[in-house]
Amino acid sequence: APLEVGQLVAEVVDHFRAAFERPFTVEVPRERVWVRGDRDRLEQVLVNLLENAHKYSASEEPIVVTVERFHNEARIHVKDHGIGIPGADQSQVFQRFYRARNVSHRNFGGLGLGLFISHSIARLHGGGLTMRSAEGQGSTFTLGLPRMAPHDVKRLPHRLLLLDEDRAQEAAA
Ligand code: ATP
Ligand code: MG
Repeated sequence: APLEVGQLVAEVVDHFRAAFERPFTVEVPRERVWVRGDRDRLEQVLVNLLENAHKYSASEEPIVVTVERFHNEARIHVKDHGIGIPGADQSQVFQRFYRARNVSHRNFGGLGLGLFISHSIARLHGGGLTMRSAEGQGSTFTLGLPRMAPHDVKRLPHRLLLLDEDRAQEAAA
């Protein structure tokens, strides 16, 4: 189904804000960013990334979520200032049951499945999930999804496109 990424992200982050006492920032472009996908699964990817960002960083540190149009892609970046991932582990964190050495000996719970599942979901949508991290400094996970072509966006049902006008008005106000 057609999904507007800015709205999806804002909704999921609102749940995290309500559940955890810590700063979350959302940066969304003025223009709507449409993708086609399975809402529940994409929500699950966001939850996994936010859960990790929350779990692997101190509670006063902000988590920054950014939505971006990048060529034919919608990109969602989840950035934390937490423990980061050691260089030697970075190529493996998307593997099933893999946990980096700087978490396995501490009391962070987890199986090492969240990123494996998230990566699979991204691929099933024709997109990808990538990561940049520095140990002790933080991590940024980026979910990339193919954007809907402008021609297809124009043909969306009116009730969906009304969202566009709402945001246009917000931006103009
Ligand atoms: P769960 O199955 O509950 O998600 P998990 O969080 O350990 O367990 P993944 O989400 O798959 O598993 O992440 C795999 C590993 O990647 C983690 O164990 C951790 O070592 C590392 N990791 C993932 N996200 C971050 C992050 N934001 N900061 C630091 N390390 C991370
Ligand atoms: Mg996890």
